[in-house]
Amino acid sequence: MADRNKRLDSNVAGNFFVDATCINCDTCRQLAPLSFEEVGDYSAISRQPDSDSRIHQAYQALLACPVGSIGTEHSDKSRLQTAMASFPLQIENGVSYCGFNSEKSFGANGFFIEHQDGNWLIDSPRYIKHLVEVFERRGGIAHIFLTHKDDVADADKYAAHFGAKRIIHQADSDVAPTAERVIGGEEPVRVGAEFQIIPVPGHTAGSMALLYRERFLFTGDHLWWDPHSKSLEAPTRLIWRRWTLIESIRKLLDYRFEWVLAGHGDRVHLASTEMRAQLQALVERREKGRVLR
Ligand code: SF4
Repeated sequence: MADRNKRLDSNVAGNFFVDATCINCDTCRQLAPLSFEEVGDYSAISRQPDSDSRIHQAYQALLACPVGSIGTEHSDKSRLQTAMASFPLQIENGVSYCGFNSEKSFGANGFFIEHQDGNWLIDSPRYIKHLVEVFERRGGIAHIFLTHKDDVADADKYAAHFGAKRIIHQADSDVAPTAERVIGGEEPVRVGAEFQIIPVPGHTAGSMALLYRERFLFTGDHLWWDPHSKSLEAPTRLIWRRWTLIESIRKLLDYRFEWVLAGHGDRVHLASTEMRAQLQALVERREKGRVLR
């Protein structure tokens, strides 16, 4: 619950505000980019939401904020309930963003895939009643794909409740020592006809991406969209091995996909040819940096 006594001066005047407990995770800026901006080391309300859709997005951000740093001077219960009911947010074809990001993963995004052979959770949101009930209504969770060690959050609770199999790479498995499936090495692993697990070490030794229907690539912290530069980006710090990271980015040129769904950073939908060009450009920028370094 945000504290109006800790309201940041960087907020514009009005109903919504961010307080000084913000951890600058970016979640609110992804959900309501027209209302939230990064100011110094925090997010802040740069423009009070002034339409139904923007107010709705601001309430979604309030609920998704991992540390409860977003508040209102006057709460609208009905709008809050509508925002709650909107999660998980449908992206496309049974793929949705869970919301309710967890502080345990520094506010990483979790995703949900409804699939006839068993549903998937990609990384973990907070374990909360609303999501548990939605997942129950949609057939439960069969697999929990953990992109890397930082974004495990409440995966153990979801696994215990739904009897789901957690999937993690061996190199990151110290954070989930009882995981039901451990992936080793760097070769891709197929799961059924529509899923492919692709080890992409670099950010961490055990980072992995999940390719679904050759359309959706869940990337954890390996790759994301930067809305300012309008380009695909990859970590420049907190890297296990820089050269390995570049090779792991290059590896993705062998795959076709149209969506990048990231743990941190924006998600993006591009034509597969444009996505490939973006990926190639990222590899070239990083290669250049490697030569110059
Ligand atoms: S979602 Fe919350 S913690 Fe994250 S940047 Fe926004 S206000 Fe800060």
